[in-house]
Amino acid sequence: MTIVVQKFGGSSLADLERLGRVAELVVRTRRAGHDVVVVVSAMGKTTDGLLALGRDAARLPGSEAPPEPPRRELDMLVSTGERVSMALLSIAIRARGGDAVSLTGSQSGIITNDRHFDAKIIEVRPFRVEDELARGRIVIVAGYQGMSYRREITTLGRGGSDTTAVALAAALGAERCEIYSDVDGVYTADPRSVPDAAHLPELDCDTMQEMAEAGAKVLNARAVEWAKKSGVVIAARRSADFADGASGLETRVLAAAQAGARAVVGDRKLALLRSSGDTTALLAAAADANVPLRDVTLDGAGLTASISLLNAPDLRHFCELARRTGPFSLEAGMGQVSLVGVGVGNEPATIAAARRALPEAPSWFTSSPLRVSAFLPEGAVPDAERAWHAAFVGTTR
Ligand code: ASP
Ligand code: MG
Repeated sequence: MTIVVQKFGGSSLADLERLGRVAELVVRTRRAGHDVVVVVSAMGKTTDGLLALGRDAARLPGSEAPPEPPRRELDMLVSTGERVSMALLSIAIRARGGDAVSLTGSQSGIITNDRHFDAKIIEVRPFRVEDELARGRIVIVAGYQGMSYRREITTLGRGGSDTTAVALAAALGAERCEIYSDVDGVYTADPRSVPDAAHLPELDCDTMQEMAEAGAKVLNARAVEWAKKSGVVIAARRSADFADGASGLETRVLAAAQAGARAVVGDRKLALLRSSGDTTALLAAAADANVPLRDVTLDGAGLTASISLLNAPDLRHFCELARRTGPFSLEAGMGQVSLVGVGVGNEPATIAAARRALPEAPSWFTSSPLRVSAFLPEGAVPDAERAWHAAFVGTTR
């Protein structure tokens, strides 16, 4: 029997009605003769709600600064979101006559490093999952979480359930990993800011991974990295399209490279970091505080880099450490527009045209073989997305 891994995002599980439709889809897949492993996210915006609660608990009267909850406790807190989903889905499947069992990340053998709140999967030991499949059961796994080699509960960074799904698919030898959300795949740009964005039925792993790193939310970057390493084919689908036995569009993410500009990606919630102090010490401070830096550039003037505020819950701690390394500034409220595709950043003509197409001068401009990016105030991102889409992607399709 072939193994199919199906992952459902928070929006597909936002309420019991939607959860019921997911249960139906899963049972139908099982009855079609597949071994089914389901990976779930937390319901709706549960993770955001839990994080807000955690921050509020750190600020209760009588608290001392700094008011930031420890990462280990955040992991204990947010990992409960996926446990709620897995249990409810298992109950709903059993109510439909299916035989399901729910497992946490640690029960499923998701072993991670010990970087809390943004942990990396280092190994998958899916023995328990395989045993349950052999018993004919549908296995429901809580996404986004694992266990460190110190036996601590960890989480995999925001949007990490995709990574659980692909890593499990690889470890189980599944051919396909279906990732269901509220969008029907990947587009040449975000259709909310670029109305003529086109659906991409196929995309190569390198481009997709770069798009995810640059802020595209449809698939998680680490999930695509696992797919690339393992040869698992990801199919991104909209769950509503596949309800009641119907089918719809999908984007398949494949290993074979495709050259040229494929998509424009906008990102928000970024901070621009500039330092003219001891840059080596500053990099050490970022490593100490577990703050990932993107596009680090060192030159005579010092260091420039960007920080995504999404997976850096303790930025204040980083700033304290950074202050000891000399003058630095951290400018929040920034965004980035990126042109992504294999080879785009290797062409001086493309870089020049990208710079020219921007309505205003960017704070910073970078390029790499897979990407050309401009840093702008958050509010300027949609205009820049439209400008680059029109110049490089829209007309070629
Ligand atoms: N629930 C987690 C989040 O909202 C993980 C996920 O959705 O993949 O980030
Ligand atoms: Mg989610």
